[in-house]
Amino acid sequence: MVENVKERLYFKRRYVMYGITTILLFCIPFIKINGNQIFLLSFDRKQLHLLGVAFDMQELYLMPFLLILMFLAIFFMTTLAGRVWCGWACPQTIFRVLYRDLLETKILGLRKRMENRQLEPDMSLGSNKVKKVISLVIFACLALVAASNLMWYFVPPEDFFNYIQNPLEHKYLFIFWLGFTIALIAIVVFIKENFCIYMCPYSRVQSVLYDNDTIMTVYDYKRGGEVFDAKGIKLWKKPEALNAECTGCEACVKICPTHIDIRKGMQLECINCLECSDACTKVMGKLGKMTLISWTSPQSIEDRQKVRYMRFKTIGYIVAMVVVFSGLLMMSSKKEDMLLNINRQELYTIRDNGRVENSYVFLFQNTQKQAYDFYFEVQNNAEIQIKRPSKPFRIEAGEKSKQVVVLYTEANLAKDAQKDTHIPLEIRAYAVDSQEPIEVFRKSVFIYPPNKSLH
Ligand code: SF4
Ligand code: SF4
Repeated sequence: MVENVKERLYFKRRYVMYGITTILLFCIPFIKINGNQIFLLSFDRKQLHLLGVAFDMQELYLMPFLLILMFLAIFFMTTLAGRVWCGWACPQTIFRVLYRDLLETKILGLRKRMENRQLEPDMSLGSNKVKKVISLVIFACLALVAASNLMWYFVPPEDFFNYIQNPLEHKYLFIFWLGFTIALIAIVVFIKENFCIYMCPYSRVQSVLYDNDTIMTVYDYKRGGEVFDAKGIKLWKKPEALNAECTGCEACVKICPTHIDIRKGMQLECINCLECSDACTKVMGKLGKMTLISWTSPQSIEDRQKVRYMRFKTIGYIVAMVVVFSGLLMMSSKKEDMLLNINRQELYTIRDNGRVENSYVFLFQNTQKQAYDFYFEVQNNAEIQIKRPSKPFRIEAGEKSKQVVVLYTEANLAKDAQKDTHIPLEIRAYAVDSQEPIEVFRKSVFIYPPNKSLH
């Protein structure tokens, strides 16, 4: 029986998940594909890195797809499995387990028992005050490392370690770094689970996404017996109905980090950590019975059927995610080798020899990792020539270059006696000294004055 009870406990699986999440979050900034991070939003470099592809700020047409995908994924996850993120992978929950359970309870003995989270340490004792200071100092060091980890998603680790050697030149980095550290200490040490209950925006919206088939922490009132009435008023500590299995030990209530009684039904405060389920598994295990609190859907408790994972809502979210993800892949495959913006200047200039000139400003950006010489050509009209710039120009890696461009023609391209003629241009800009083709194509227009002789 003891073996069976151990197998049914969730805490080991939860700790493994915490370990995997921590390792992943810590390592992701160091994993590079083609020299780019898996995820980086760098305001310094004005770049977004996504799965090893670097996008310049001017290429952020992917952002709407990413945001829609992120929201759809959150909606899907919440509809399917409620607040599973909160209990199993949220850094706030992981930090609370590290600080409250490992540091304060197991290592320092500041809290008496892990099984009773309602009991706060007696801070009138001098020894407890010392322990509290020690726990704060240790957690502050951990928070500093965690805040650095968060920064690496915005400042690449190699830049981060360079910048912190020159604090005066990178004041903002230090302000954010220390700000995140202090916020983390405040949330984990002082605000505690109140953050999950009152401050986290996700907890505010998740309840509207639930339905009766959503997996959550559910008390089996059919076996255990009703403890609260329909208005949420507690009827008794131990259900007095005939055959009610709940012993009224309240092990599930005492262990709950958000201080709720799950026997009351689904509550916003529940972070799905399943500590109450483990507590009940131990109590009921001694009686040779199954836990009264499980990770299942209210509907499956009601009709004793398996959880319905695939239903209209969840299938709808999967389809929507596939559509948006395909759009994201399609758009990211259109990523260009370099960037070029073309702006036409004044209408046109007519020289004494009849030559007609049009001016433009070409804004080039070398998005490659090394410097190249760039130039361009008019592809679709041999009559239109380049006057300026007369030769290729060098652009360093990641840098921009603004070029005043003058195109001219000595041919008579007028098609009308009264109106200007708009001649479409197809421009190909390219790196002249690259082995691989680095090129972009742009459209513009050359304007030619009216020719009275056409009357
Ligand atoms: S731990 Fe189980 S038996 Fe004890 S009060 Fe909670 S639900 Fe009832
Ligand atoms: S009710 Fe259970 S699952 Fe919900 S927060 Fe409390 S202990 Fe965790």
